[in-house]
Amino acid sequence: MARKPFVAGNWKMNTTKASASELARGVAAGAPDGMDVGVAPPFVYLDAVREALGSSRVLLGAQDCYFEKNGAFTGEISVEMLKDLGVKFCLTGHSERRHVIKEPGELVAKKAKAIYNGGLIVIHCVGEKLAERDAGKTFEVVQKQLEELTPDMNDANRIVIAYEPVWAIGTGRNATDQQAQEAHAYIRGAMAKRWNKDFADRVRIQYGGSMKPENAKGLMSQTDVDGGLIGGASLKSDSFLAICKAAI
Ligand code: PEP
Repeated sequence: MARKPFVAGNWKMNTTKASASELARGVAAGAPDGMDVGVAPPFVYLDAVREALGSSRVLLGAQDCYFEKNGAFTGEISVEMLKDLGVKFCLTGHSERRHVIKEPGELVAKKAKAIYNGGLIVIHCVGEKLAERDAGKTFEVVQKQLEELTPDMNDANRIVIAYEPVWAIGTGRNATDQQAQEAHAYIRGAMAKRWNKDFADRVRIQYGGSMKPENAKGLMSQTDVDGGLIGGASLKSDSFLAICKAAI
């Protein structure tokens, strides 16, 4: 099954308004055809980045949102607000939100549903901590996090999974090609059971965790690896675009 690769940059809490715009212009100028490319800047620079992306095909994304439509939720940003700014995808369950901000799975699930029901693409992040891998619990952890999505979220174009082993994020230590393929194949199999095989065959599964130009080709040429979610290496257009090119 030929799935269109999808590489997205998660800029996290980095950049300034000026550097975000410059980075977006660089990505827009070099984004290859034949794949989906996206960038997720901090909320406050979404508008500037949308302007910098201009009419390019690069998808604008958000790193988080809240599940309510509007109201007394101080500091939060709704899916409607994101759509108003031209956002096309939103992350859920990123390990930094799960483990640093301590966001519980129930909240992740509500956010994912709101993003999906709002018509946006959900990039749902799953992945085990090192102790969980060492204890042989990788599949169990990933399975539970996958269950934050429900089978009625069944538009395969708008559900993307990012497999991001926590021990590989921002550490410089990526999963091996084989470790990534093994986890991705498990995820696709689990999705075939919870949704159906056709859906699972069409869903893109990105790898995330210290992906860089040097290891991108090996990881993304695995059968079930359909792109990447990139942190550190997405902060320079050269390295991000080199990873994008390795996906096609
Ligand atoms: C991420 O935060 O999603 C990520 C994969 O980060 P890094 O590429 O820096 O490991």
